[in-house]
Amino acid sequence: MKKPRVLIVEDESSIAELIAVNLRHNGFDPLWASDGPSAQREIDTALPDLVLLDWMLPGQSGLQLARQWRKDPRTKDMPILMLTARGDEPDKVAGLDAGADDYITKPFSTQEMLARIRAVLRRRAPEASTERVEIGELALDMSTHRVTWQNAPLKVGPTEFKLLGYLMQHAERVHSRAQLLDKVWGDHVYIEERTVDVHVKRLRESLGPAAAMVETVRGAGYRLTSQATV
Ligand code: CA
Repeated sequence: MKKPRVLIVEDESSIAELIAVNLRHNGFDPLWASDGPSAQREIDTALPDLVLLDWMLPGQSGLQLARQWRKDPRTKDMPILMLTARGDEPDKVAGLDAGADDYITKPFSTQEMLARIRAVLRRRAPEASTERVEIGELALDMSTHRVTWQNAPLKVGPTEFKLLGYLMQHAERVHSRAQLLDKVWGDHVYIEERTVDVHVKRLRESLGPAAAMVETVRGAGYRLTSQATV
């Protein structure tokens, strides 16, 4: 199997080198760019499998780069993992809103970084073959519009079905309300973010015993997880 190519965008060479060494030891093919323009050159040459993008960069910030790449059809689906020294919730939300798949707060361990990278790559991989999704004992079938919990059917409204489908197809990651509006409702409609909360509430009611799988992540959004105690 081809080693996944990871583009590290980080101006601090000591950090970039440490990440590169760890990635190489763990079966990845790392590349390094120290700023936006050089990252863009690498991406123009060959699309990496994932970008580890530092927030604090000289010139364009990681946030600006993420936004720019999400607008470009060629890079809009490129997995981006933000590296941030900031621990503030608004910054995490801003990173996710800019299109990052996930974020890691510095300082982080190699194990944590590898786990996040693998999770993002896993989530990104099976995009096409997701007619039926199963998370734990919760199953959703796109073609028949059926949701079951422990093989028993659940009654789920149309919007809640779309919302659940999206959350299950992108399980374990946190989605901000703005992202959910964009992905589930589409970006051409004007709906208040509170609408998401209303539908999440209804979805939980529909899920009954599995309601705890839809987690609220304070200050960040929602996540569907198999880790919940149900
Ligand atoms: Ca930096």
